[in-house]
Amino acid sequence: MLHIQESVLEINFKALQQNFEFIKSKTKTGTKVLAVVKAFGYGSDAVEVAKFLQDELQVDYFAVAYIREGAYLRAAGITTPILVLHPQIVNLKHAIAYNLEPSLYNDRIFSAFAKEAAIQGKKEYPVHLKFNTGLNRLGFFHTDTDYILQKLKTLSQIKVTSIFSHMVASEAANEKEFTQNQIATFKEICTSFEKALNYKPILHMTNTSGVFNYPEAHFDMIRTGIGLYGFGNDPKFDKKLQPVASLKSVISQIHRIEKGESVGYNRAFVAKKNTTTATIPIGHADGISRQFGNGVGSVVINGKLAPIIGNVCMDMIMVNVTKIKCNEGDEVIIFGEGQSAEELAAKINTISYELLTAVSQRIKRVFLR
Ligand SMILES: *Cc1c(COP(=O)(O)O)cnc(C)c1O
Repeated sequence: MLHIQESVLEINFKALQQNFEFIKSKTKTGTKVLAVVKAFGYGSDAVEVAKFLQDELQVDYFAVAYIREGAYLRAAGITTPILVLHPQIVNLKHAIAYNLEPSLYNDRIFSAFAKEAAIQGKKEYPVHLKFNTGLNRLGFFHTDTDYILQKLKTLSQIKVTSIFSHMVASEAANEKEFTQNQIATFKEICTSFEKALNYKPILHMTNTSGVFNYPEAHFDMIRTGIGLYGFGNDPKFDKKLQPVASLKSVISQIHRIEKGESVGYNRAFVAKKNTTTATIPIGHADGISRQFGNGVGSVVINGKLAPIIGNVCMDMIMVNVTKIKCNEGDEVIIFGEGQSAEELAAKINTISYELLTAVSQRIKRVFLR
């Protein structure tokens, strides 16, 4: 156990390894694993997490959302293939410079990338074709298949390394039929490509919940993000996973407030009785939304929940510790043991993903190996 003396995000590599192995155990041998490390590795530390997944766990692929994220990983020495899920045309030349593999999701970016790859004299540059099977977010439509195949015949500068789609509601039991239709559509698309191409692209469709709920949709590779970081969008899977990131801080100062006194900006909290408060160096600029203010969110101090009082400030929060034995310098857990990121996120009607990825880059990352 580390002695916490400032706000830190602890990243537990044992947990990461255990989650990776659990997720992998849900797949058939030979199924590749793509680790999603976008948004700084779901707010953890993309470089350290990617290094561990690459060097210790031999992950097959990485994915990031934007080209900048991939360039950052390459600059840090990541050599595993990186799929860029949502590239923009303006950055395609950098994608090639950093050996990043774009997802091509419409005619506009397909043509732009084919042109750029030709200009740079590339042969069979790896690209990934994204199909929309219901999310209506990004992707070619299934009826575009023939036209894409026609185009591919004339192009030697790119090669379809993978074909993929994305599930709409892989965690929702009441959307099984919709998901099964997505899987069926994806299979049709893949069959058309397999018939027409003289090589076999990697096929992939599932995110973390898809891995758990739709084994029939694992195809050649699974994509996992949130599961690696310890959440499974379902208490049943949460139990098998271990949160990788814990957000911790300390008590900077304790105040004894008398009845009628207020705490924080705009006097949002007024003490109805004598109250003891603790000030903690973490605020909305660190990812603690103002929505957590005024009793909505709590932190854990010496094993007990201390509600946030008044408004969340940019760099600090004040919490009620009237009933908690504590001192200045004591450790505070924002999420981690005693309160998971999922539980805290639920207090403001959001999901673990949003809370995790909101943790500001100014918070120090410490690594438990
Ligand atoms: C973010 C993302 C994932 C990862 O989803 P999780 O639910 O975190 O496993 C997978 N595929 C695509 C296309 C994504 O955008």
